[in-house]
Amino acid sequence: VEEVKQIKKVVPAEGKTQKAVFVPVNRSESMQAARMKLPILAEEQSIMETINENPVVVIAGETGSGKTTQVPQFLYEGGYASKGKMICVTEPRRVAAISMASRVAEEMGLSSREVSYLIRFEGNASPSTRILFMTDGVLLREARSDLLLSKYSVIIVDEAHERSLFTDILVGLLSRVVKLRQQKGDPLKLIVMSATLRLEDFTENTRLFKTPPPVIKVDSRQYPVNVHFARETAVDYMSAAYKKVCKIHTQLPDGGILVFVTGQKEVKQLVQKLRKAFPLKTQSELESQEMDSEKEQEEKTPLEFDEIGRKGSNPKKKKKKKKKNNVSLEPVNLDSFAESALDDEAADALECDDDDEDGMDIDDMELPALRQPMWVLPLYSLLPSYKQTRVFLQPPESHRLCVVATNIAETSLTIPGVKYVVDCGRTKLRKCDKITGVSTFHVDWTSKASAEQRKGRAGRVGPGHCYRLYSSAVFNDKLPQFSEPDILSRPVDDLFLQMKAMGIDKVINFPYPKPPSQEQLEAAEVKLVLLGALEPPSEGKKSAGGLTPLGKAISGFPVAPRFGKMLALCMQQKELMPHAVALVAVLSVEQLLLEPGKAVKECALHGQALQLGDPAILLRLLYASGKALARGGEKALSEFCDMHALRLKGMKEVGKLRVQLTSEINLAHPELGLCIDPTLPPPNDSQCRMLRQILLAGSVDQVAMKVDQFELKEKKEKWKLAYRTPLLEQPVFLSGDSALKKAKPQWVIFQELFETGKIMMRGVTVIEPDWLTTYAPSLCRLSPILLDPAPRFDPRSHKLMCWVTGTFGKGNWELPRMEI
Ligand code: ADP
Ligand code: MG
Repeated sequence: VEEVKQIKKVVPAEGKTQKAVFVPVNRSESMQAARMKLPILAEEQSIMETINENPVVVIAGETGSGKTTQVPQFLYEGGYASKGKMICVTEPRRVAAISMASRVAEEMGLSSREVSYLIRFEGNASPSTRILFMTDGVLLREARSDLLLSKYSVIIVDEAHERSLFTDILVGLLSRVVKLRQQKGDPLKLIVMSATLRLEDFTENTRLFKTPPPVIKVDSRQYPVNVHFARETAVDYMSAAYKKVCKIHTQLPDGGILVFVTGQKEVKQLVQKLRKAFPLKTQSELESQEMDSEKEQEEKTPLEFDEIGRKGSNPKKKKKKKKKNNVSLEPVNLDSFAESALDDEAADALECDDDDEDGMDIDDMELPALRQPMWVLPLYSLLPSYKQTRVFLQPPESHRLCVVATNIAETSLTIPGVKYVVDCGRTKLRKCDKITGVSTFHVDWTSKASAEQRKGRAGRVGPGHCYRLYSSAVFNDKLPQFSEPDILSRPVDDLFLQMKAMGIDKVINFPYPKPPSQEQLEAAEVKLVLLGALEPPSEGKKSAGGLTPLGKAISGFPVAPRFGKMLALCMQQKELMPHAVALVAVLSVEQLLLEPGKAVKECALHGQALQLGDPAILLRLLYASGKALARGGEKALSEFCDMHALRLKGMKEVGKLRVQLTSEINLAHPELGLCIDPTLPPPNDSQCRMLRQILLAGSVDQVAMKVDQFELKEKKEKWKLAYRTPLLEQPVFLSGDSALKKAKPQWVIFQELFETGKIMMRGVTVIEPDWLTTYAPSLCRLSPILLDPAPRFDPRSHKLMCWVTGTFGKGNWELPRMEI
């Protein structure tokens, strides 16, 4: 094992050294014993000294070394949660914020009032909170109202290696806040915690930190892991994974198995298959697993577009025994998996005969002959957190543990007792074109760094084995070194606006750990100017001006800029406001419809509601679900969602967002007296019409015009019934499950584009082209009457009409004549 402990000491500035304080914590004996086994405990003193002496510290250590659970406790004991200040820990994932808060509270013998969490819409913080876990997005928002973040004495940015957009921005912002707080004489400590990956972006970036912060590396007691590449790369990695697990289980000595696949759907499929292959020993255990799978069905949450529509919508009407969360959080006994000397020969043998039956569907495969029981658990980020914590418990006696996971098990959660890792080598990413915002789900090769992380999971308790279901040639040639930070791979208009609102004028000069490209920033700027949120560039200048009053209003809403604009525009329309809030809420939460086609059939739309299109369907379902909730509570809501194939968790989130928006608007405009009224009827015709106009105002860059024949000359391709958009060269299409599929309107706006072979529009609404000059003037240029090819007198209106030309983006389109 490489000696990695290395502490760069920085000589403390004179007089800056903090005195050692000690705040006692009452831990149970067993908890204390479990803690003592963590590698980070050995570093407590040097960590605290380094933090006391430096404003910014980087702590790097392998997953499972104890960073997240222990460092906040060190700080607490070191007096950082006194004098009315709190210790803040940010996580990129909500689940981590919740589960880590409860774990730390438990370890310290404190309650959730003292060690609390805060995520969007939800939290259990109290006036006695001393340690607060939150998502990075929540802290970023808090910085808008209090840039100095004066509630906190220390901010720990955890999982910084994940390079989530908000984490990156936070680190940049905090690097400045630390300075400001120092100047104020109220110092703030910043601790960046990460797996040992790509630390240079944080440490060797002089724009971020002038003097590189000290790095503490925590030795992780990693045992050697033998890597076994497949001779040939499995295309059907699900079958390959299944076979590999069967072989490990039937042929190799004890030790947990951890399988990495790419998504929730795959996890469930493999879990089911493995449970069938290796059933549990006793009936009662079997029941408890079955109950799980029933519950899991309830929480079906497709993440992939291609999953929608395939899920059964008729949940079995079995009696559901309410099973309480009775998972006890006893400290894990890591010794229970005491190594039996690993039979390397047998392990190696597994590599040699996996070429048979390739390509066979996983469900058709034969069950193995030898069927010792196995304790198979799923793990993915949307799994309820009490179920996630089951992986920390000991499996029933004489059962091997097998966890089938997505890359959540790569770094954020550590599963004890794993000796074998089976890695499919792929990962699923939602990719959003960084300029156009067209989103796609890709299953792609994971990075070398991730593959190494996955491998490392097998060496926590003793020497382990990692089976990669791909060849070493693929590893060397296809896998990129690292995955891209989020900020480099998505549009940044929301970020741009928020920064402007925080008074950061030169967004490009912000100290990003890795700055977004010039191209991305320009695209964001163009979009915000189009929306009317930024002043257009003044004469002779290239970059846009400051925030407009509209932009300021938009930035105040906790939703995407275009939705913020819709709300801002509604302010004068008292009657319309509740509908607009509902509409924005329902459009802000992704993938509510598990079967969009079904919803279209059920909600027969007519007249203006039909013109409002897909958003009208969501609105109808939201109002109907609100009625169900008011009538029969949560149970009725859940039944309603089952019946209409709606994603329950998503609908609850919509509900919370609606409450939040309503109260924020009321705060600023009490005269509106906005409330959420379950008896509110759906918008009437004239309201639907106005909602369409407002949607247009927010979607100026998402207009599409039908063309009878779409030609891409250079590609020699032609399409019928395609739509042209201002930004894209390619045509876009109405998706098959749109409410407007039959109507095929001439002019539409869409909410989202996604690619599945062709680029499809999602969330389509009909607009009238002459609204464009009013609601999307930035798209239009009026041709001077004299240059008009044929100015014409309209006999109906007795007005002189002239052409309007669309000038935005790639296409130069002609808009219909308008009166002048
Ligand atoms: P790191 O942040 O360095 O990855 P953590 O602090 O998350 O490490 O985890 C330290 C140890 O605590 C790990 O061995 C992990 O298995 C254990 N652990 C974390 N959460 C729980 C929990 N809820 N129940 C039992 N053990 C846990
Ligand atoms: Mg951690």
